[in-house]
This record gives sequence, C-alpha cells and structure tokens, in this order.
Amino acid sequence: MEKIKLSLEMRKRLKKVKGILFDLDGTLIDTVELIRQSFRYATQKILGQKIPDEILLRNLGTPLRSQMEVFSKEKADELTRVYQEFNWAHHDELIREYPGTKEVLKRLKEWGYKLAVVTSKSYPLAQKGISAFNLSPFFEVVVTLDDVSEFKPLPGPILAALNRLGFKPSQAIYIGDSPHDIKAGKRAKVLTAAALWGPFSFENLKKEKPDIFLENIGELEEIIKGLKGN
Ligand SMILES: [Mg+2]
Repeated sequence: MEKIKLSLEMRKRLKKVKGILFDLDGTLIDTVELIRQSFRYATQKILGQKIPDEILLRNLGTPLRSQMEVFSKEKADELTRVYQEFNWAHHDELIREYPGTKEVLKRLKEWGYKLAVVTSKSYPLAQKGISAFNLSPFFEVVVTLDDVSEFKPLPGPILAALNRLGFKPSQAIYIGDSPHDIKAGKRAKVLTAAALWGPFSFENLKKEKPDIFLENIGELEEIIKGLKGN
C-alpha cells in the first residue's frame, strides 16, 4: 500500500480527533446491491417504470422518503413502504462485508477512539445492518433518521452524534461514501474523509472537497497509526 501523504496542517488537525464517525450504507457495510434491487422493485411495482440505476441511486445518503418524492410525490409513501418491505425481506442475503472493516474498527477502539454511526436510515434497518456483521460492540453512539429532525446534507445528524459523545467538531472526523456525507460533515465543521469504495465516483466526491480520500478502510488505520509518536 502506498504511504498516504498528509500535510503538516492536516496531521495537526487529525491529532485532535477523538471521535470517528461513519456513515453506514456504502461505507461500513456493502448494501449497494440490496439498495439497487429494492429501488428497482419498488419503482417497477408501484410506478410500472424501469428507471436507470444512476437516477435511482442519485440521492443515496438522504432519507428514503425524500428520495421517493423525486419519483412521485403522490406515491412516495407507497414507494417507501414497498422498498422497505423488499429491503427487509432480502437484507441478509444481499448485503456484503467490506473486507477488513471489523479489524479496523477493533484497532481504532483499542487505540481509544470513540466510534459512532451517523446514518439516514431508520433505526430498525440501521440496527439490522450493524448487527448482521456483529459491529454493534464497536459503537458508542448510533444516530439514525429517528433521532433527528434534519438530515444529511444538513449537519444535524453529525452534530447530534458529537453532542452525545461530548466532543467539539474539531475533535471528530466523518467518513462517508456520498457527496451528501461530505457536505454534511463540512457544515458540521468536522474533518471529512471520502470513502471511495462506495457507489459514488471520485469526480462526484471531489467536488465536495473532502479533507481526505480513502481508497479502502485500511487506509484509515494507516493514517491514524501514522499520527502516533512524532
Ligand atoms: Mg452511504
């Protein structure tokens, strides 16, 4: 693995970090196929339309109902319900692990970092995803759709996690795979890292100017490890 180069300024900022906050879908767990199939199923069943994947997945990372409103304002409730039924029924068969995730979380926790999940998913689905790979023990805080009244790309969910952890924005970094994650992180004034292993392109993420790009979760461990000592 190529060594990640960080500016002195970035190292200084990273050294203040005590809390590492993660998005869930596309960042900690590979739900991309599950989400894609849930969207296809719901839109075909309710709207009778085949919508291209790039349009279906465009607003990933924001609350599901608001994503559905883009397809049909009147049928957004029905679309959401059918999506959720499919998603729940096929959850465990269609989700995948990102290699190394658990090991990295374990190491970060051992090094004394407080870890949190900040997701736009509802509480039951978020818990289902987290527990599918036994990730629950690593997180002090899980902020879901049900905990907040504003959603990514607004900063509310990240600020809620900081509040529960007792950290200032300068003491945290948020890692997410979508442009909405980076936007939310910037608005919350935390450091931001773009997870390039999710479904969004480098170009789309680059537009939001994250502080760091990560090719894989192992690079996060490398960076943190590199902060020790000097
Ligand atoms: Mg995501």
